[in-house]
Amino acid sequence: MDSGSIRRTFLEFFKKKGHTIVPSAPLVLKNDPTLLFTNSGMVQFKDYFLGNATPKASRIADTQKCLRVSGKHNDLEEVGIDTYHHTMFEMLGNWSFGDYFKKEAIAWAWELLTEEYKLPKDRLYVSVFAGDKDDNLPFDQEAYDLWKQFVAEDRIIQGNKKDNFWEMADLGPCGPCSEIHVDLRSDEERATTPGRDLVNNDHPQVIEIWNNVFMEFERYWNPEKGGASELFKFDLEYHGEDKKAKREKLRSSLTLLRYLPAKNVDTGMGFERLCRAINLVQSNYDTDVFTPLINFAAQTSNIPYGKDEKTDIAMRVIADHVRAVSFAISDGQLPSNAGAGYVIRRILRRAVRYGFTFLNFKEPFIYKLVPILSGPLKDVFPELESQKEYVSKVIFEEEASFLRTLEKGLKRFELIQNEAKNGVINGDLAFELYDTFGFPFDLTSLIARERGLSVDEQAFNAAMAKQKSRSKTDAAKETGDWVIVGSDVKPQFIGYDQQEAEVKIIKYRKI
Ligand code: ATP
Ligand code: MG
Ligand code: MG
Ligand code: MG
Repeated sequence: MDSGSIRRTFLEFFKKKGHTIVPSAPLVLKNDPTLLFTNSGMVQFKDYFLGNATPKASRIADTQKCLRVSGKHNDLEEVGIDTYHHTMFEMLGNWSFGDYFKKEAIAWAWELLTEEYKLPKDRLYVSVFAGDKDDNLPFDQEAYDLWKQFVAEDRIIQGNKKDNFWEMADLGPCGPCSEIHVDLRSDEERATTPGRDLVNNDHPQVIEIWNNVFMEFERYWNPEKGGASELFKFDLEYHGEDKKAKREKLRSSLTLLRYLPAKNVDTGMGFERLCRAINLVQSNYDTDVFTPLINFAAQTSNIPYGKDEKTDIAMRVIADHVRAVSFAISDGQLPSNAGAGYVIRRILRRAVRYGFTFLNFKEPFIYKLVPILSGPLKDVFPELESQKEYVSKVIFEEEASFLRTLEKGLKRFELIQNEAKNGVINGDLAFELYDTFGFPFDLTSLIARERGLSVDEQAFNAAMAKQKSRSKTDAAKETGDWVIVGSDVKPQFIGYDQQEAEVKIIKYRKI
């Protein structure tokens, strides 16, 4: 089954079950101060769950462009090294806003996977929330009993709070989840070790494909306790290594749970993983979502895919990163020096350097992949196809500009590396690579890691802060039309400059 049919089948299935199909929200968020990028399907529906907006339908389904490269979900280091975490991926989802609940969600998930997609039942495992005594959270008996109708009990795993309990924030809607995992190992391997022992264990062939969240609780401050101020005080004052666990305990003691009057379902299935499972292949990159990109990289570099782990990783990284960068640009986020734009620039530079070092791409190359990517997706994501020339051009310019300093920077790295003390590269030197050669910190630390070294991040940050305060002073001394407020100017507010500054700098016209 090709990826186009797999996506269509999902949407048609839920349409038949009364869902309204909606388009993906943009990858880049301009109006959410808590997130830079959409990192899951529910982001565009957040206000429905919080009761700040009324859903346009009580059942909705879609495929959502997601990016997991910052904040709570950051999978960047895994990408290309493993074969199932991407920077940008599609999350297929179905939602109930106060409509159906566990019974329908579980029955439909099973029907879709085993009857429509015909996934072999003996490769599937499901998990339910085991409960958490410390946090007064109950075992999800209801989901367990519902799954029992379809799945043998030895295929139902009881998972912990980390994997099987979902919360949006410290307070608010939350609830247990049930995940579906698929075991893609060979028959011999499966006969030796049961798949259930490998679920949620980072096994490359036993992977999670679908998360079904059942939002049935609301967490609120216990009126008899210290509430937000106590938690805030802890956040400010406590710095011990066990901060996370301690905070969890404190929050639990400060809050109570009640059932939500209207329960919601929020599901997310990794599209690329689903394509892999349906076709029973060993890697997401062996599905038609990625093969056209990988094949082009292999042909152009004249290096076959599957020959050597190092060159394979480089091809996977490029095939992955071009998607993140292209979708971000087509959603209006250009690479830049700050904020979301810098995340995109970092991803692109990471890909350029993989190509340069391992595939011998000394000239811009990644921009050529844009039309290969956009063509097959033109019906689902027309915004990419219609802007493919523009997106290619932006990527070309970025590649060309970074390639001008990359080689020199890598040579400089060799010298810097020789000066490393106890395996740690000096942070000031890493800053020089950043400042002079355009190496983002994470790129320097990636190259260092490949050589068994690390980088002094604190010293790097200190050097960065020093330069920022220097350039602020310099800017204040400027005498052009636009200046940042200094002692000799009377400010008249003109607007924000969101282009380059990490923190918005208010610009003033000199009067
Ligand atoms: P994992 O444990 O594999 O990191 P997750 O538990 O972080 O996944 P969820 O937040 O539950 O993922 O997201 C729902 C689904 O999205 C997952 O079941 C998975 O199929 C898919 N998914 C999550 N992260 C990625 C990623 N980086 N690349 C591709 N698919 C992903
Ligand atoms: Mg994850
Ligand atoms: Mg998981
Ligand atoms: Mg999950």
